[in-house]
Amino acid sequence: MLSQQSLAWGQTKSCIRELMEFGMRRKAEIGADKVFDYSIGNPSIPAPACVKETIAELLEGDSIALHGYTPAAGLPPLRKLISEKLNERYALDTTAANIYVTCGAAAGLAIALKAMLLSGEEVITSAPFFPEYRVFTEACGGKLVALAPDKSFMIDTDALKAALNEKTKAIIVNSPNNPSGAILSEDNLKAVAEILREHKAKTGRTVYIISDEPYRELVYDGTKVHCALEYYDDTVFCYSFSKTLSLPGERIGYLAVSSKMTDAKDMINAIAGAGRSLGYVNAPSMFQQVILRCFDAVSDVSKYRENRDLLCSIMDELGYEYIMPQGAFYLFVKALEPDAKSFSEQAKKHELLLVPSDDFGVGGYVRLAYCVSKEMIEASKPAFAALKKDYE
Ligand code: PLP
Repeated sequence: MLSQQSLAWGQTKSCIRELMEFGMRRKAEIGADKVFDYSIGNPSIPAPACVKETIAELLEGDSIALHGYTPAAGLPPLRKLISEKLNERYALDTTAANIYVTCGAAAGLAIALKAMLLSGEEVITSAPFFPEYRVFTEACGGKLVALAPDKSFMIDTDALKAALNEKTKAIIVNSPNNPSGAILSEDNLKAVAEILREHKAKTGRTVYIISDEPYRELVYDGTKVHCALEYYDDTVFCYSFSKTLSLPGERIGYLAVSSKMTDAKDMINAIAGAGRSLGYVNAPSMFQQVILRCFDAVSDVSKYRENRDLLCSIMDELGYEYIMPQGAFYLFVKALEPDAKSFSEQAKKHELLLVPSDDFGVGGYVRLAYCVSKEMIEASKPAFAALKKDYE
């Protein structure tokens, strides 16, 4: 008999996967330019020039070294560079030993959870949340507990206090958020850190924060992104270059742990062990070299801000309600009926591919990924108008 859990995850299609498959079929039938595909967060901006130049240079060099194995946790100079950059940014005292280079944030999250979770333990997150949090948690025998967000899409601290119990092992925070685009305020993060410290003082139990930040640099209107690492030593920082450097298919990111974490050495060893047991050793070697040389480069995110503003102006004109995103590249729009799945089905009739919010742990919204062309956003306006009319 196969693992029933794995079988179920393989067989159940997420709303995003279903929409993607529908979109591919539809584009083949009527032409790609007739389908308004807002389904997936695939960056639409080219990687910075530094990436292309570095790849060209690397290909001219020693190919045996370039394509060879690296240490399981990543190239030492890259781990050193990452630790130095984090120390500079967050006034930490981490070292290369505290960095584990991963195949993107997905692998980072899976490793972090595997490193800390015992069967039956709970992981708290705040809805709306990246659906894979549930898969990675349940794969370790854990349970994901989703809090409803407060009115401004911050973590509801009263709900957090009520959810903490003797089984709680970690809380996953994601800022800027997929799918709401909200950025957690400094006050909110400080309050969460304080609650976890109080919990530890009362019970003796450490609850870790896993700070999932693949959208860290995709920020608009000068909003500052704060990180739990600044306020809470027991934080595992999970980063990815997928979105910032427009490299999602190359699978590169890292986990970092503060030296001040409780039992930091054990955590680093557990991360190494979890990476080993999951087979996530030696993230792609060429892209480790690329990151080493292009660490500070960022794709031109001004295009995403232009798209956000254009899409919001269309929504305003047509009378849709939405959460104003401060970061990432998603617009969370109120569905025009209580059932988001049924609203998404109705949208399909106008060739609009909008992800219903149910998989993100809340009902009543759809997610629009606006990492698309400006032309597609402009061309989709009549379809949004027709969809609105369906509900009048
Ligand atoms: N976390 C969040 C919130 C995401 O939105 C994504 C991808 O979309 C990931 C993690 C996984 O990112 P990666 O491509 O680096 O695995």
